[in-house]
Amino acid sequence: MQWTGLNEIREKFLSFFEEKGHLRLGSFSLIPNNDNSLLLINSGMAPMKKYFTGEITPPRNRVTTCQKCIRTPDIDRVGITARHGTFFEMLGNFSFGDYFKEEAIPWAWEFLTETMEIPKDLLWPSVYEEDDEAYAIWRDKIGVPEERIVRLGKEDNFWEHGTGPCGPSSEIYFDRGEKYGCGKPDCKPGCDCDRHMEIWNNVFSQFNNMGDGTYTELEHKNIDTGMGLERLACVIQGVDNMFEVDTIRNILDTVCAISGVKYGANEKNDISIRAITDHARASTFMISDGIIPSNEGRGYVLRRLIRRAARHGRLLGINRPFLSELCDVVIRENKAGYPELSEKQELIRKVISFEEAAFSKTIDQGLGILSELTKNGGVLSGEDAFKLYDTYGFPLDLTKDILAEKGMTLDEETFNACMSEQKKKARASRKAADAESWRSDGISFENIEATKFTGYGENESKAKILSIVSAGEFAPAASVGEKVILVLDQTPFYAESGGQVGDTGEITAPGGVFKVLDTTKTTGGVFMHLGEVLSGELVLGDEVTAKIDVHRREAIRRNHTAAHLLQAALRRVLGTHVEQAGQLVTAEHLRFDFTHFSALSKEEIAEVEALVNEEIMRFTEVTVNEMPIAQARALGAMALFGEKYGEVVRVVRAGDFSIELCGGTHASNTAKLGLFKIVSEGSVAAGVRRIEAVTGEGVLTLIAEKQRLIDEASAAFKVNNASELPAKAQQAAQELKEKDKQIETLSDKLAAMQSANLFGSAQEIGGVTVIAEKISGSADSLRTMCDQIREKNPKAAAILAAVAGGKITFAATVGKEAVALGLNAGKIVKAAAQAAGGAGGGRPDFAMAGGKAPEMAQAALDAAVAAIRESL
Ligand SMILES: [Zn+2]
Ligand SMILES: [Zn+2]
Repeated sequence: MQWTGLNEIREKFLSFFEEKGHLRLGSFSLIPNNDNSLLLINSGMAPMKKYFTGEITPPRNRVTTCQKCIRTPDIDRVGITARHGTFFEMLGNFSFGDYFKEEAIPWAWEFLTETMEIPKDLLWPSVYEEDDEAYAIWRDKIGVPEERIVRLGKEDNFWEHGTGPCGPSSEIYFDRGEKYGCGKPDCKPGCDCDRHMEIWNNVFSQFNNMGDGTYTELEHKNIDTGMGLERLACVIQGVDNMFEVDTIRNILDTVCAISGVKYGANEKNDISIRAITDHARASTFMISDGIIPSNEGRGYVLRRLIRRAARHGRLLGINRPFLSELCDVVIRENKAGYPELSEKQELIRKVISFEEAAFSKTIDQGLGILSELTKNGGVLSGEDAFKLYDTYGFPLDLTKDILAEKGMTLDEETFNACMSEQKKKARASRKAADAESWRSDGISFENIEATKFTGYGENESKAKILSIVSAGEFAPAASVGEKVILVLDQTPFYAESGGQVGDTGEITAPGGVFKVLDTTKTTGGVFMHLGEVLSGELVLGDEVTAKIDVHRREAIRRNHTAAHLLQAALRRVLGTHVEQAGQLVTAEHLRFDFTHFSALSKEEIAEVEALVNEEIMRFTEVTVNEMPIAQARALGAMALFGEKYGEVVRVVRAGDFSIELCGGTHASNTAKLGLFKIVSEGSVAAGVRRIEAVTGEGVLTLIAEKQRLIDEASAAFKVNNASELPAKAQQAAQELKEKDKQIETLSDKLAAMQSANLFGSAQEIGGVTVIAEKISGSADSLRTMCDQIREKNPKAAAILAAVAGGKITFAATVGKEAVALGLNAGKIVKAAAQAAGGAGGGRPDFAMAGGKAPEMAQAALDAAVAAIRESL
C-alpha cells in the first residue's frame, strides 16, 4: 500500500470507473435541486434520487461521482471527538438499470486491492444474511475464504426507507489491527469494537417494498455505492482519523499557526482546533454553492458553523478576524477537485469575514448586557438567558462560562422551556408553509409525460386535455364554476420557474371555456394550469385551444430581459462578485437579489440605471440559442448560483452586454423595454441586496403616480407651479418649527400659572406645604410643574396625577428642605402608583410613575398624602 494524497485518491477512483464505462459527473451542489425533503445534500445518492425513481432520465446508465456532503445532526459534538465532522466527500459508482452484483462486487475488490493496493487479507466483506447470490460471488468469483465473509442482519446490511425500492447491501471492512480491537478471539465485522472499519458500501436495489410485508423484484435493478473519501484516505495514509488526512491536516496546522497553539498538547485546545478546521471546510464549500448566512434553513446552519468557529477562535486566544485566511487554505487544498472554489474565492472571503465581524459585534453587545444582568449575583433567569441567546445570538455555553466565573448559576429549566416553546412555533410555521403546496398535494402525475412547452415561439397552441384534477383527485370532466387543474400534452403557458411567474390566459374546449389563473409545474416537468371553468364543460381528451394573456406576457418578457441587463450592469459598476441570489419577474415589476456588501450610493444607482437604459436605446437584438454547456461557458455565460444544468443549455444573449443561461421568456430586442427605472434598493440579508425596478408601462405608471403626488402636494400648499413646491415646503417646515417654540414657551407659562394656583389648595402637614391634585396636562407638563413647585417653595411636597388615554401618570416632588425632613419623592409616587395598579420610583426630589386604573386617581392621591404624613 502506497501513501497517496486525498486529491489523488479521488482522481484514481473516478478514472477507474470511467474506464469501466461510467460517465464522470461533477459534484452536485450542496443545495438540493427541487427536493424539499432535504436541507443539504448528505450522500452521494441524494442528488440522484430522481434517476433512481425514473422520474428523470440519467445522462448515462452508468455514472460515477465524488459528491460533497454535509451532515448536521450534531454540530455541537464536532471537535469534541476526532470522529465527528460536518463536511465530507462521498465516492460513488451508480448503475441505473444496467450492471448489477456480478460486476459491482469484483470492481470494488479490484479498485481496493489493485489500484489502491490494500492487502487482501485486511479486507472483510459482509453480506445480508439471506443474500446467497452476493455471498457466492465473494466466495467463488473473488476467492475470499468463507471464514472472512460475514453474514449480517437487516440492521446492518439491508437498506430501505418505508415503501418503495430497497435491497440488500454488501460492505467491505478494513482491519485496522489489534490495537483497535477488543481482543476477543471471534472479533470480526459486526463486533462492537473499533477494529473493523466499514469503508465501502454497495447497495443492491432489487426489491420493491409493497408496504404489506411483501417484496416484489424490481424490473430495473440499480447499484448505489457509497464510500467516504476521508475514511479511505485514513486507511491509505495509515492515520487514525480524518483530521490527520493530508489536506485536512494542512488546514488544522494553519489554525495552530494562527493561534500559536500546539495540537495534541491540551485536550481543551484540541477540541477548538478540530471544530475550527471542520467548520472552515464546511463553510467554504457552502458559500461556494451560494448559501449566505441567515436565520433560517441552510443559511442558519452556515451561520452556526461560522459563529462556532469564531467562538472557538476566541477560546484559542485569537483576537483578530482569521477565518478568511483559513478559507484560502481550504480552497488551495481542494480546488483540484472543485474548480468552483477558486472562481468564488473573493465572494467566500467576503461572506465569511462579514459574518465573523457581525458575530464579534454580537459577542461584545452580549457581554455588555450580561454584565448588567449579573450585577447582583445569584441566579440568572431562564428568560433572560434565552433572550440573550435568541434575540442577540449570544451562545449559551458562553453565558454559562461567564456565570461560572462569577459564581452564579442559570435557571436552565426555564431556559429549556423557552427553547421548546420556540421550536414548537418554528414547527407550526413550517407546517403553514407546507400547506401552500396544496395545489399538487397528493397528486402524482407519474404516468404522464413531461409537457411540451410551445410558449417560446407561440402565444396560442392547439392541445389535448390529458388530465383534470378536481379537489385533489383525478376527474373525467369539469363544469362551470369548478376550480381545477388541467394538464395538456403541450402548452404555450409558461410555468412558474427561475423567478418568472406563471402565465394566465384561457383554454377553450368545444364545450366550454377555462380561465387560467396561474401555471406551475411538477419536478417531472408536467405543467399544471390552475383555474376555473368560466362556462360549459371541459372533458378529458378534449381538443382545445390554449391562449395566454399576451399583454401580460409582453410585460413579463420586458422585465425578465431587464433583469438580465440589470445583472450585467451591476457587475460592471460594482464588480464581478455580484451574483444573482434570487429574483422575481412579474408583469408589474422585477425584483433582483444579488450578493454585495454595502448599500449602493445614489451615484452607483444612477450609473446602473443609465447603463441599462443605454443598452435599451442601443436597439440590441436579444438572441436565444441552445448549445452544449461547455460552449456556453466558453462564451462566458452567467450561470445561476448553485444551479445544476443539463448537457444542453439555453443561452440568452443581448449583444456582448449580457450572456446568461436562462429558461425564461424574453423580449426580442432591448428597445422593446422602452425605459428602465429603479424604484428601490435595500438589504435582504447580510451581504445580499435587493433592487426593485420597472420597465415599459411600469415606468409610465410610476411617472403618473409621482405626478399625482406632486399635484396633490401643490394643491395642499396652494401653489400653481410645481417648481415652487420645494421652497414652499421649506418655508412651511420653518414656520412649524417657530410655532413649536412659541407653544413651548406658552405651555411653560401656563404650567407656572397652574402651579401657582396649586399652592392655593395646599395643606400644611408637620411643617411641610403639601399639594395633592389631579391636573390636566401631559407627562412633560407634570415635570415642568414639579420643577416650579420645588423652586418656588423648598418646604413643599407635591403629588400630581394626570389622566390621559385610559392611563394615569403620577409625578411627585419634594423641595430641598422637605427632603431634609425625611420626605422622599420616590416613596410618595410609589404609594400613589400602587393604589392605581402600577409601579414606579425615582430620585428623592423628583419621581414619576404610571398606573392602569384612572378611576383610582383620588384614592391614589390620598394614599400618597398618607405616606407623606407617615414619613414626617
Ligand atoms: Zn471486537
Ligand atoms: Zn433569466
